[in-house]
Amino acid sequence: MFCPKCGKEINDEAVVCVNCGCAVNNAKVKTASNSDGKGFAIASLICGIVSIIMFAIITGPLGIVFGAIAKNKGNTSPMATAGIVCGVIGVIGWLILMAMGVSLFSEF
Ligand SMILES: [Zn+2]
Repeated sequence: MFCPKCGKEINDEAVVCVNCGCAVNNAKVKTASNSDGKGFAIASLICGIVSIIMFAIITGPLGIVFGAIAKNKGNTSPMATAGIVCGVIGVIGWLILMAMGVSLFSEF
C-alpha cells in the first residue's frame, strides 16, 4: 500500500509510515478490530431486546455485559450500544414492574 500523506510505498502491515511517520489508516487492522466481539455485540442486542419484550431480569444485565465486552474488544458497531441501551431499559422496566407489584401488594 501507499502512504496517504507522502505517497511512498510502505509495508501492508505498517501502522505508521516509515518515511514521514504519519499514522496510516490500515484497512486490514480496522476490519479485524471491527469484527472482534461481533458475536458479543449480537448477543448483547438479542439479550437487550428479549429483556424489553419479556421483562426478563437475567437477559437485561447479560445484554449490558455482552455489550461492554464487545466494546472492550474494540467493536464499534451500533449493535453493542443498542444492546446496552436495550438491556438498561429492560432492567429499568423490570424494576418498575417490581415496584408496582410491591406497592400493589402493600395496599392489601
Ligand atoms: Zn508517509
